[in-house]
Amino acid sequence: MSMKIPHRLYLSEDQMPKQWYSLRADMKDKPDPMLNPGTLEPIGEEDLYPVFCEKLAHQEFDDVTRYVDIPEEIQEFYKMYRPSPLIRAFNLEKALGTPAKIYYKFEGNNTSGSHKLNSAIAQAYYAKKQGLKGLTTETGAGQWGTALAEACAFYNIPLTVFMVRVSYDQKPFRKIVMQTFGADIFPSPSDTTNAGRAMLEANPNSSGSLGGAISEAIEKAVTTEGYRYVLGSVLNQVLLHQSIIGLESKIAMEMLDEYPDIIVGCAGGGSNLGGLIAPFMQDKLLGKASPRIIAVEPASCPSLTRGRYAYDFCDTAKITPLAKMYTLGSGFMPSQNHAGGLRYHGMSPILSKLYHDGFMEAVSVEQTKVFEAAAFFAKQETILPAPESAHAIRTAIDEALKCKETGETKTILFGLTGTGYFDMSAYGAYNEGTMTDYIPSDEDLAAGFAALPQV
Ligand SMILES: *Cc1c(COP(=O)(O)O)cnc(C)c1O
Repeated sequence: MSMKIPHRLYLSEDQMPKQWYSLRADMKDKPDPMLNPGTLEPIGEEDLYPVFCEKLAHQEFDDVTRYVDIPEEIQEFYKMYRPSPLIRAFNLEKALGTPAKIYYKFEGNNTSGSHKLNSAIAQAYYAKKQGLKGLTTETGAGQWGTALAEACAFYNIPLTVFMVRVSYDQKPFRKIVMQTFGADIFPSPSDTTNAGRAMLEANPNSSGSLGGAISEAIEKAVTTEGYRYVLGSVLNQVLLHQSIIGLESKIAMEMLDEYPDIIVGCAGGGSNLGGLIAPFMQDKLLGKASPRIIAVEPASCPSLTRGRYAYDFCDTAKITPLAKMYTLGSGFMPSQNHAGGLRYHGMSPILSKLYHDGFMEAVSVEQTKVFEAAAFFAKQETILPAPESAHAIRTAIDEALKCKETGETKTILFGLTGTGYFDMSAYGAYNEGTMTDYIPSDEDLAAGFAALPQV
C-alpha cells in the first residue's frame, strides 16, 4: 500500500545512504582507460599522484568496487544540508494539464546553490587526510568554486580558484562569496601561469573556457609544493560521490511505491546526471528495469548529440591525460551569448560509454526555450532554478506534454541541480527579450574535431 503522497519527501537521517555506489562495477564493458598523451600507453593510479590526492586517484581507477563506505566525517557534513528533498511537482503537473507524475530531486539547499558540495566535501576531506598544504581548481559558472571554498573553509585548506573570465565579469557576487569563504580567485586566462599567458597572447580579449582554466589550475598545483588539483565534474570519482543523489532518490521513490519511467538530467561534465541515474542505471545494466534515461545539453555546446566519441585532452593547454569521451575538441569555446553553464567541451567517460552503448539518450535544447521553461517552472513551484537545471526542466516538461497527447501516466524524475540567484543578467536578458540562440554550424565544429589528437 502506498502512503498519501506528500509534496516534499525527506528521508530521516537514519535512512541516508552510508555508501556511495560505483556504476562502473556493474558495467560489463568498462570505459576505455586514460592514456599518457606522449606514449599513448594507459596510465596508472600512481601517475596521477603528482596532480591528485592519492585516495581520489585510487577512486578514479577502481572500476570493481561496487559500494564505497562514505567516511563518517563526510556523512556528518552531509547532514548539515542533506538529505535533499524529493518533490512531487503537483502544481507544475496541473499547469501543464498532464497525466504524467513529475518528481524532482532538489539539490539547491546549500550556499553553493548546487549539487557540487556533495563532491567538494569529499575531495577536501581526502586532501586534509593526506596533509596537503593547499588545493587549486577552476570554476565556470561559479558553483563548483563556491562549493569547494565552503569545503576548504571547513577543513582550513588554502584554495586558489581560476574562474572563467566571462563568469568572473558577469557574476561578480559569486567571486565575493568565494572570497568570503577564504578562497583566492583569478580570472582565467590570467597572467599568473604559462598556460594563461599563452592563451592571452593568442587572444588578449579571451573570455576564457573551462578547459583553459583547468590548464591553469593544474599548472599552479604541480608547481606549488604540497598542492594538488581537484575537479568538480567529469571524473569517475566525482560521479561516485554524486551517487548520493540517486541513492536517496531511489529510497524515497520506493517509500512512495514509485519507479521512474523516464529520468532526465542536465549534462555539463555529467556529474549530477551520473549521480542521479546511478542506482537506476544499475537496474538497467542488470536487466531488472528499463527506464528511459535522457541527458539534456545546450544546443550551443552539444558534446553528446554532435560531438565525436574519441580520445581527447581534458584541458585546453593539452597537459592532462587523454580520456575517451564525447567531445567537441579541447579548443572548443562556446559562443559569448551562451548564458547557462554546461559549457565544457567533453563529457564524463562513464556517461560517454553508456551513451555510446545505447543505455541512455541525449537531446539538445536552445537557451531561450530553456529560460521559458525556467520561468514557467518558477511560477508553479516557487523555486528559481539555475539555468543549467532548467535544461532538465525543459525536457521534463516536453516529456510530460507528450504524455498529455497520448494520455499515458508516466512517472518522470528529473534532477533540479540548483538555484539561479547569481544568473540575474541571463534572466534579465530573457525577460527583456534580448536573449538569442546560437547553434554552431558543422564548420564551427569541424575546427574542433580537426584538432583532436591522433590515437
Ligand atoms: C555544475 C552544475 C551543473 C553541471 O555539471 P554536471 O557535472 O554536468 O552535473 C548543473 N547544474 C548546476 C546547478 C551546476 O552547478
